[in-house]
Amino acid sequence: MIVFKIIYWAGMLIELVIRAPFRKSWKEAVKTEKRAPRTEKVLLASLSVAGLLLPLVYSVTSWLAFADYLLPAWMGWIGAFLLAGAVFVFARAHLDLKSNWSPTLEIFEGHILVTCGIYGKIRHPMYASQWLWVVAQILLLQNWLAGPIGLIVFIFFYILRVPAEEKMMLDTFGDRYREYAEKTGTVIPKF
Ligand code: SAH
Repeated sequence: MIVFKIIYWAGMLIELVIRAPFRKSWKEAVKTEKRAPRTEKVLLASLSVAGLLLPLVYSVTSWLAFADYLLPAWMGWIGAFLLAGAVFVFARAHLDLKSNWSPTLEIFEGHILVTCGIYGKIRHPMYASQWLWVVAQILLLQNWLAGPIGLIVFIFFYILRVPAEEKMMLDTFGDRYREYAEKTGTVIPKF
């Protein structure tokens, strides 16, 4: 249904707008540490193919129509609801992380360990948002090549990224990060 494609792209547009100023300050920041092995670069590129390129081809051409599937409308609306949740968590996380955000694993000059706001509950709200997004993508983009691909790629990304990121944070902030990690959940709040 066209409405679900429109909702997907509206969510994407909002996220791109939210991220733009953070991308600008990231480019200008002085980096003191960069951990971006080749697998990480390959996975970041794959995330773009899975979240942007294939959905775009599916949305504006009929080339992938042979792989379409049809879900009941209520499932599409659940997808819309999850996407809205993803965008909300994405926005909240950016407002809290501020200029400490980066697309790869990096530490900046004057890097601050953020432990408040949404980071006071979970350590990886942007990845939590991405989990919601990739499930929404399956429900909104009803095509075997443009829908579930986001989830498949993100599983690999998440498995590799989270331990590497936490190791970098531990190496940088030591016991402060250890204590912070004990009090918070990874992507689900700890009670
Ligand atoms: N994993 C986090 C952040 C993703 S952006 C999330 O899902 O919200 C990745 C960058 O954020 C990393 O390079 C790291 O330098 C930085 N970062 C991650 N957690 C942080 C924290 N609690 N405080 C400050 N910077 C953090």
